Amino acid sequence: MKLFGVLGDPVSHSLSPVMHNAAFKALDMDCEYQAFRVSPEKLYNAIHGANALGFGGLNLTIPLKEKALEIVKPTELAKKIGAVNTVDFRNGITGHNTDGFGALKALEGGGIHVNGKNVLLIGAGGAARAIAFTLAEEGAKVTIANRTPQRAIFLAKDVGISGKTTGCGLDDLNELINNSDILIHSTAIGMSPKVSETIVTSDMMHRDLVVFDIVYNPLNTRLLREARKAGAKTIDGVMMLVYQGAEAFKIWTGKNPPIDIMEKAVRERLS
Ligand code: NAP
Repeated sequence: MKLFGVLGDPVSHSLSPVMHNAAFKALDMDCEYQAFRVSPEKLYNAIHGANALGFGGLNLTIPLKEKALEIVKPTELAKKIGAVNTVDFRNGITGHNTDGFGALKALEGGGIHVNGKNVLLIGAGGAARAIAFTLAEEGAKVTIANRTPQRAIFLAKDVGISGKTTGCGLDDLNELINNSDILIHSTAIGMSPKVSETIVTSDMMHRDLVVFDIVYNPLNTRLLREARKAGAKTIDGVMMLVYQGAEAFKIWTGKNPPIDIMEKAVRERLS
């Protein structure tokens, strides 16, 4: 039996165990994935302990993703993003970040290609950093709008692809949305229990807009309902979660996991 796990604090809410165990079962692999509550102070021991115990791999979630950079050997992308969400033990202890890939695949799965598109990314936290780097590298023109403008401006500078990435506050959202093809929401606004909150309402959107809310709890966020009211296309947060997990699974095992089974497991747990 090979063990895998997600480390975080809190971690009991994590959907990763149900998602990965469904994939292991479908592929008839003798593996088990569990959640472990680990504080930042214990992260070094937890990662090295898992390595010593022969774990197949780890995921990291809040508040451990940044701290892990000091402990593992990060890939270039994880270093640039400043966070690790996947730890692999096959070649030393390496740290990957698959969140941006997950977001890109979620868009592509919805038939959306970002190359040359104007993307408005609301938020400049951990998830937004991964998304901004990945989408800019795919050729999107990314505008980052954040409650704390300075954080958006710093992130845009970090990404810094030929001046195509800019950062600002939330004051001019109407105009920014008018000029955007894709709106990605990556703050915690609208997340359970404050499900009635939204930064953007239907009157601010247009029919040609794609609205991707990375919040997945609840599945049908207020933002997505507002987008549908405006006639915009919508993508919920589940597929980003599934694809970031699927990419981790591939890194650890070299196998392509069954995406549909992982998605079903997550949607069943959420509904
Ligand atoms: P984070 O690093 O804590 O960043 C939080 C972001 O939300 C910051 O930009 C923050 O702005 C903004 N924010 C917080 N409260 C706000 C408010 N009242 N008004 C406006 N902006 C506010 O969090 P994260 O890890 O990026 O996660 C963000 C959300 O994405 C969470 O809901 C998480 O569950 C979800 N997520 C989903 C996936 C997926 O696979 N679908 C993956 C990762 C995360 P300031 O900079 O001004 O504080």
